[in-house]
Parts: sequence; C-alpha cells; structure tokens
Amino acid sequence: MKSSLEEISVRGHEQVSIFQDETVGLKTIIAIHSNALGPAIGGSRMRPYASFEEALHDVLRLSEGMTYKNALAGIPFGGGKSVIIGDSSTLTGDRRAKFFQSFGRQVEKCGGRYITAEDMGTSVSDMTEIGKFTKSVCGRDPNQGGSGDPSPWTAKGTFDGLLAAAERAFGSDNLNGKHVAVQGVGAVGGYLAKHLAEAGARLTICDPHQARLQSIAKETGATIVGTGDILTVDCDIFAPCAMGGVINETTVSKLKAKVVAGAANNQITTREVERELVNRGVWYAPDFAINAGGVINVSEEYNPKGYSADRVRELCSRIRITVGEILDESKRSGELPGDVAIKLAMRRVDQANANREYR
Ligand code: NAD
Repeated sequence: MKSSLEEISVRGHEQVSIFQDETVGLKTIIAIHSNALGPAIGGSRMRPYASFEEALHDVLRLSEGMTYKNALAGIPFGGGKSVIIGDSSTLTGDRRAKFFQSFGRQVEKCGGRYITAEDMGTSVSDMTEIGKFTKSVCGRDPNQGGSGDPSPWTAKGTFDGLLAAAERAFGSDNLNGKHVAVQGVGAVGGYLAKHLAEAGARLTICDPHQARLQSIAKETGATIVGTGDILTVDCDIFAPCAMGGVINETTVSKLKAKVVAGAANNQITTREVERELVNRGVWYAPDFAINAGGVINVSEEYNPKGYSADRVRELCSRIRITVGEILDESKRSGELPGDVAIKLAMRRVDQANANREYR
C-alpha cells in the first residue's frame, strides 16, 4: 500500500489542499491533478468516508481521471475534483446553505485554479450557495445563469460513442434490430434508451426504481429484466448506466455482448479485467471518453462569448471520432482501449505543458 505522499507523487498531482471550517463542520480535500490545459474542472463529491485516507485516495483517483476526460473532450480545462467528508443527507435548510457557502470560500482560496460542480451527494442548489462566494462553480440552475441538467448531453455523447464501437464490431452503425441491454435508466440511461429506440434498437432494461423503469419501458417498448439478470442478457451491446465496478473478475465471463458502451464511471474494476474483456473479442468504449458530454456542457458556462448549445453539440459530436480513434489504435497496437485513451489524453496535456510559461 502506497503512502499518501507516494500516491500524490506517482499520480503526478500539481496541488492537493485540505480545508477545514469548524464553525460549520466542513472537512474537504481539493485535488488539482493538472492545470496544463486550463483551470481544473471537476465535481464535489460528498460522502461519509470511513477515514481521511479513503477520502484522499478517492479524490486523487477521481481528479486524475478528470484530466484524461477533459483532455479527450477537447475542452480548455484541466483535471480536478473535491471530496467533502460527511453525510449530505443530514444537512438541511440554513445549516446546509451555510455549509456550502463555506465550501465556496475554500474553492475561492484556490484562486481560480479549481472549478467545482455537482457530483454524488451535492446538488444544483448547493452550487447556488457555493456561487455566493466564488465564481469558480458551474452546473448551476439555468435561472442563475447555469447550463442546467447535463444528463441529456452525457446521453447524446454516449450514444454517439456507442455508434463508433458498433460500427467496428458489426461493420455498420445501423442499430436497427440490434439488441441493447441498458443497466440503469436514470437521468442518463433514460435519455440513452430513447436515442437507441429511435435508432431502431431492441432494448432490454433494468432499474430498481420501478416507476422510472415502467415509464422508460412504455416509451421505448423495452423488455424489463431484474437487476441481477441484465449482465447475462443475450444482447449485441451492453450499456452500463448505473454504478461503477459492474465488469469485474466474476462478471466479465458472463457478458454476451460484443460491445460495451455506457455512461457509468469506472465500469471496469482492473486492467486485468479489461484485458480479459478485450481478449473475449469485446469492443469497449472507455467510460471517461464516452461520458464527457456532461462536463462539456457545464464547462461551456465559462465560454467568454457566453454559453452556446450549438458549441456543446459540436464538441459532443467529436466524442464519436475520439472513441473511434481509440478503438482503432487499440486494435492496431494490441494495447487496452483505456491505456490508448490515457495516452491520447496525455499527448494533449504534455503538449500544453511544453507551451506553459509557469506552473
Ligand atoms: P442516476 O442516479 O440518475 O441514474 C442511475 C440509475 O441507476 C437510477 O435510476 C438507479 O435506480 C439505477 N440503479 C441503481 N442500482 C442499480 C442496479 N443495481 N441495476 C440497475 N440500475 C440501478 O445517475 P445518472 O446521472 O444517470 O448517472 C449514471 C451513471 O453515469 C453514473 O455512474 C454517473 O457517475 C455516470 N455519469 C453521469 C453523468 C451525468 O451527466 N449525469 C456524467 C458522466 C457520468
């Protein structure tokens, strides 16, 4: 097990800061992995971490991932993330408002090098409170000048990336009659299911949220299966759109799909599992390449010319090209798609670093 300092050094973070405000009970770590391409953008995750070390490991891992995601998405932003140690469900009303205002003051201390956004455990209204003390926040309410719900953009980018993978697996991007299993039909999975149905795909879906499940099934004509059965559905494409870690040592051999392309973060547990997936002839679109639509959308709030949905659409449409490049290079070189994606991202970061006047 690496020490915290070793982990920071190996992952190559530029700055890791710990902030504490005892008056509101705030303990947070803000990690800037890279500012090479611009201010580091990445959400604030609030969880009752079991220990400081667990929180630190999470923020280091997540912020590094944001560097790759943002670089691949072609947006002028570096990678960063923050974690807040605590249970957000215990915070309500004025206490919650003051808590996130304090967090906003800590973000402001980063001097514009870190921009926060919503993530697990934080909400759009929390972003509004943060925004009272810093301009370094995005994903706010559209009524407050924000860009609104990022999920439709994430779904569209995921759909486009899925087409790139389908084209390679089946020799055509025509989804008519292709069988797609969608795990989780929440904010992103629901929109993705609609895109797939419009393209003529036959759908099988699952979700523990019954009302949502029934409504998406009705709208798309999808077949419903239990959450324990989705991985073994005899389908062409598997789209994980719920939690991470779904493709692991136990499940990888059960998948029948030829393509894995979905929005969930950290879908595959280890490089060994990814190797096994690829060896089984599966085309895997790396999650951090395919699910960048949301960050593309929120980052557009920082466009000096003002937010433009057309520009977001244009950037999202490039996800298909990027995923295609990754898969072709992986096929050619035998490297894992995830490794190829990181190399491509780092080429952009290294180029920006070479032209940087100060660090
Ligand atoms: P969400 O909470 O709206 O939807 C997730 C859905 O998964 C819910 O409907 C939930 O009931 C369902 N679910 C939970 N456990 C399940 C299980 N065992 N099997 C099947 N379904 C299950 O979240 P979301 O915003 O749609 O995000 C989905 C995934 O995509 C997450 O991993 C998220 O990190 C990632 N992601 C989302 C965005 C975005 O713009 N929202 C951007 C990038 C990545």
